[in-house]
Amino acid sequence: MKRVIAIYPGSFDPLTNGHLDLVERGAKIFDELIVAILRNPEKQALFSVEERREMLETMTTRFSNVRVDTFDGLMVDYATRVGATAVLRGIRAISDYEYELQMALMNRKLEPRLETVFMMPAEAYSYLSSRLVREIASLGGSVRGLVPEMVEEKLHRKVTEPAMKRREHRKKLAGG
Ligand code: ADP
Repeated sequence: MKRVIAIYPGSFDPLTNGHLDLVERGAKIFDELIVAILRNPEKQALFSVEERREMLETMTTRFSNVRVDTFDGLMVDYATRVGATAVLRGIRAISDYEYELQMALMNRKLEPRLETVFMMPAEAYSYLSSRLVREIASLGGSVRGLVPEMVEEKLHRKVTEPAMKRREHRKKLAGG
């Protein structure tokens, strides 16, 4: 029987419950799912690739057919290298569609044997993005329920606490 290997590429900066929702759905339909973190030196990331990898690995251990990897360069080249025939991507709202369609068609042009498969997360995660999570954390808001607890703690240490300290410092300076 043919085994279908899929990759789920992304930045995962940081991992959210929306990403995990998609991993769970993907793990059900593919024989093997490789969550592939893009190493992108041009994009200023909040968490290092190693930190993101650690969070993903910890949170996906319960799926026996899921593993985590990193890649750079063309996604289609990476997919070919690992023997993947499918790419998993998430569609949250119509706003995702245009960009994802363009990417999927371009990737098909580059590698016609690779199929892009879109999945929708549970409704509760349809407005959730890593960017919003980073913004909320930096403004001192709660991201409980939007990201795994492990990610929540790391965000607190890396973003919320330093932002609060900076704010207090500015207040002190302004006050005297
Ligand atoms: P990228 O920079 O490639 O968009 P992301 O980590 O933001 O990296 O997203 C990776 C993939 O996960 C994309 O296909 C994106 O649409 C999907 N995704 C992100 N957040 C969610 C979510 N809340 N629900 C479902 N899919 C999501």
